[in-house]
Amino acid sequence: MDFHLKIICPKCQRRKPVSEGFKLLCCNYCLRSLVYFVDYEKEVIKELIKLGKFSGYYKIWEFIGDLISNELNKFNLENFYITYVPMTKKELINRGFNQTKILAKVLAKRLNLKIFDGLVKIKETKQQALLDFKERFNNIKDAFNCKKSAPKNIILIDDVFTTGATLEEISKTLKKCGAKIIIGITFAK
Ligand SMILES: [Zn+2]
Repeated sequence: MDFHLKIICPKCQRRKPVSEGFKLLCCNYCLRSLVYFVDYEKEVIKELIKLGKFSGYYKIWEFIGDLISNELNKFNLENFYITYVPMTKKELINRGFNQTKILAKVLAKRLNLKIFDGLVKIKETKQQALLDFKERFNNIKDAFNCKKSAPKNIILIDDVFTTGATLEEISKTLKKCGAKIIIGITFAK
């Protein structure tokens, strides 16, 4: 599926050389860099994500987590915690699992990272995929909160990056709770 690590600025989407690492600041955004691996526009990728999210094949995320871990092995992630996109109780009941939490668990285990379990989703939101660019930012605004203070360096994992609205909103929340450097990692963009 043409899987390899790419780094971009989540705001201007400019590609950054992998050799420079992912801590480099480009635009003024709470989320510092985005690391991703596959092109979401490819039919096979869309299908895989759909199966993993809406058809209950949660094992797909364990497989993807393994692939991502192999690539991230090359980086020094010492002192980084990993966190994921929290769901409301209602969302969790509907899907039966949180795919981003599965990814976080696999990465934590494979890369020896601690999980930051302090984020909560406090607002029911519409499905982002059904909304346009501006609506997505409004939909997700003030949807998250921390129940404890956040560590300084955090990897925030999600399945797909589209507008970046969700990851930026969570990053804003994490910064309010004490985080300094937040790196986004998604399977697809
Ligand atoms: Zn930029």
